[in-house]
Amino acid sequence: MAHIARIVVVGGGWSGSAAALAARKAGTEVTLLERTDMLLGTGLVGGIMRNNGRYTAAEEMMAMGAGELFEATDRLALHRNITFPHHHHASLYDVTKIEPEVRHILTEAGVDVHLGVRVTGVRMEGRRLRAVAGYGGDTFEGDAFVDTTGSAGPPGNCERYGLGCMMCVLRCHTFGGRVGVAVLCGVDELQVTNASGKVGSYSGSCELVKESLDPALIAQLEKTGVLVVPLPEAMKDTNKLTLKACQQYAEQEFGENLVILDTGHPKLMMPYLKLETLREVPGFESARFIDPLSGGIANSVRFLGIAPRDDTLKVSNMDNLFCGGEKAGPFVGHTEAITTGTLAGHNAARRALGLDPITIPSSLAVGDAVAWMTERLAQPNGLGQKVTFSGSVYFLRMVERGLYTIDHDAIRQRVAAAGMVGYFAEPLEASRYAV
Ligand SMILES: Cc1cc2nc3c(=O)[nH]c(=O)nc-3n(C[C@H](O)[C@H](O)[C@H](O)COP(=O)(O)OP(=O)(O)OC[C@H]3O[C@@H](n4cnc5c(N)ncnc54)[C@H](O)[C@@H]3O)c2cc1C
Repeated sequence: MAHIARIVVVGGGWSGSAAALAARKAGTEVTLLERTDMLLGTGLVGGIMRNNGRYTAAEEMMAMGAGELFEATDRLALHRNITFPHHHHASLYDVTKIEPEVRHILTEAGVDVHLGVRVTGVRMEGRRLRAVAGYGGDTFEGDAFVDTTGSAGPPGNCERYGLGCMMCVLRCHTFGGRVGVAVLCGVDELQVTNASGKVGSYSGSCELVKESLDPALIAQLEKTGVLVVPLPEAMKDTNKLTLKACQQYAEQEFGENLVILDTGHPKLMMPYLKLETLREVPGFESARFIDPLSGGIANSVRFLGIAPRDDTLKVSNMDNLFCGGEKAGPFVGHTEAITTGTLAGHNAARRALGLDPITIPSSLAVGDAVAWMTERLAQPNGLGQKVTFSGSVYFLRMVERGLYTIDHDAIRQRVAAAGMVGYFAEPLEASRYAV
C-alpha cells in the first residue's frame, strides 16, 4: 500500500492552524495537536487585524491562495476600517466567535484536530524526528513536523521574568504549561530581551468585563469600535510602555489615554493599570478584568522560546522540523503567525513529499519579513526588536522599501510578478516519498 505523507503540527494557535491548513492543501494527511480545549492560543484574546502593513500582508496571502483564515477574521469582524492612535484601516474580529469558526474550517479541510494533547516527548533518529508523544502517552508518528507552540509562559517563566501567573487564557495550571518541540529535540532556544533590558516581554493589552463598564461608554464603543479616554495627569504613565511585547502600541498616546477597542470584550490597550486606579476613571467605577483575571497586575511573559531556523522556517540541526509564529522569531501578531505558519506547514509537506522547501520572495512583504528576521536571529543583539507588519521598525522598513500599500491591484500584480498567484492553493506532486 502506498505510504501517505503525514504532517504533525504541535500547537493550535493561529500559526499552528495556518500550518495545518497549508500542509493539508498541499496534499498531505495532517494531525494538529493542541494542549488546551480550544484552538487559537493567544488569538482567543486578540482581534486586531489589517492595521497598517498587516493589510498588505493579508492581501498578499489571499493572492497566494492562503486566504481562508483572513477571510474568517473578515467575516467575523465587528468593526472594519477603523482608526486608533498610529493605526489605520484596522478591523476587529469577534473573539467570542472566532474559535469555532476556525475549528470548522480545519475539520472541513480534513485536518485531524486533537484537543487536550500536550506534547512532552519525542522519538528521534539522528536529525530526524519520527514521533511526538502526548503527556497521556499517545504517540503521533509523522514524516515532517511543525513546532507552533508559541513563546508565552509557562508559569515558571511568568514568575521568573514577570510578576507571577496572571491567570491568562492559556490556563497553564489546568492544561499544563507550554512545551516546545524543538527544545525536546535538543535544539537550544533563544530568548528576547525587551527595550528595558529584561528577558521576555509582557503581553500589553487586557480585556475587561463589558457589563462592568458604564452603559453609555459601551454604547459608544459598540458604535465606533474605539474609545480614547484621556487619563487624569496623575495617572499617566509612559514608563511601562517599554515592557510591552507589542512595540507598535508602545507610543505615548497609549500611556496617556485609555485606548479601548471593541473585540467582543472591551480590549484595553494599556498594561497593568491597577484595578483601584482604573476605577477612579469616570465610567470605570465597577470595572473588572476578564483576561488575564489579574490584569491590573501584569500579563503573560512572552518571547522566551524561539527556535533558530532558516528562511524556509526549517529548525536548525533538524531535517524535518519546521516552525512558525512566535516560535520562529519575535513576530508579534495573528497576521504574522498566519503568514509564517502557512510557510512552515507548506514546507513541512514539501519535505515529507521529498521536495525542497521554498522561501517566499523578498519582493513581497511576507517574504521580506521572514528574511529580515532570519538576519536578526543571527546577530548578537538582533532579538531586541519585534517584527510586526503593523508598526515599529518593520512597518517603517515596509514603508521605506515601498512594500506597504492597500491597493489590491498593486498587491496582486506584485504577487504575480513573484510567480506566486494561488501558490498555496495547489496540491503538490511528490517526487519521492521520504519514508
Ligand atoms: C493578550 C494578548 C493580546 C493580543 N492581541 C493581539 C491582537 O489584537 N492582534 C494581533 O495581531 N496580535 C495580538 N496578540 C499577539 C498574537 O496573539 C500572537 O503573536 C500570535 O497569535 C501568536 O500565535 P502563535 O500561534 O505563534 O502562538 P500562541 O498563540 O501562543 O499559540 C501556541 C499554541 O500552542 C499550544 N501549545 C504549547 N505547547 C504545547 C504542547 N507541548 N503541546 C500541544 N500544544 C501546545 C498552546 O496551548 C497554544 O494554543 C496578542 C497577544 C496577547 C497575549
